[in-house]
Amino acid sequence: MSSSERSVCVMSVIYEPKGRAGEYAGLACNVYETCPHGCTYCFVPGLPHVKAKGWGAEEFHRPAVARRGIAVGTFELIETEPRPGIVVQVRKELASKRLAGRRDDEVLLCFCCDAYPVEGEDVTREVLEAFAEVGQRVTVLTKRPVQAVARDWDLFLGNGWRLGVSMGCLDSAWIAGHEPGANSLEQRLEALEAAEKVGIDTWVSCEPSRPEWVLPVLACVYLRGVREVKVGRFNHTGEGFDRAGWARVCRELECDEKGVGRFGGEPSVMRVVVKGGTLVV
Ligand code: SF4
Repeated sequence: MSSSERSVCVMSVIYEPKGRAGEYAGLACNVYETCPHGCTYCFVPGLPHVKAKGWGAEEFHRPAVARRGIAVGTFELIETEPRPGIVVQVRKELASKRLAGRRDDEVLLCFCCDAYPVEGEDVTREVLEAFAEVGQRVTVLTKRPVQAVARDWDLFLGNGWRLGVSMGCLDSAWIAGHEPGANSLEQRLEALEAAEKVGIDTWVSCEPSRPEWVLPVLACVYLRGVREVKVGRFNHTGEGFDRAGWARVCRELECDEKGVGRFGGEPSVMRVVVKGGTLVV
């Protein structure tokens, strides 16, 4: 999804994420070849599998580029671009020995695209059904949770899967400008609330984020029932890194050396993990 999860897009469609991405899930799966969300900080166009196609950011974010200059919400998206044969390949890999003993590992959808790229039809439901049929644990991390809750709530609920929502800040204008194809902040919050209401277990990826953004996000999603947040530092644009600010956040969350901290009080504490661990200033 957002961020620092480089080196994660490999040949098998269900794979073990490496590096920081491994802090999210033991397995992952990318369903689409492109991502229309058009995040300005997106790292995926720089990855080898995208470059190998001769693509750059424009091609990877094709629908987002097509609507440049058009206000968010006033257009119709016309295409999704699933990886060729994705449903067949997922079924094949799930039936393999490699994954047979790993049904309890969550498969995260998706690091290098978004499982809910558009509002219309997509292949995501078919892919999720393939996971459900074999009893594979799944978690989805998306910037378009409205579609997840409205259409696929039964799969999440019936299989005990968790729904993750990306939310680096609470600034609607920043989100609209930097994540133009995704759900608005308000839509994401409403989807979180709706998911919690029907009993879907939720979590939030607060990434990319800045020190001053973190606690307001935690407070906001805590009130909506979220009890797990992973925090990722904004380091995508080469801007100065606020080491002291991040150390302060870790202190306020009482993080241990692995970055595991807490927010809120008993009996309902929210677990917060600051990726990369606590900083020493
Ligand atoms: S949601 Fe899509 S455009 Fe945004 S960072 Fe993730 S892959 Fe890139």
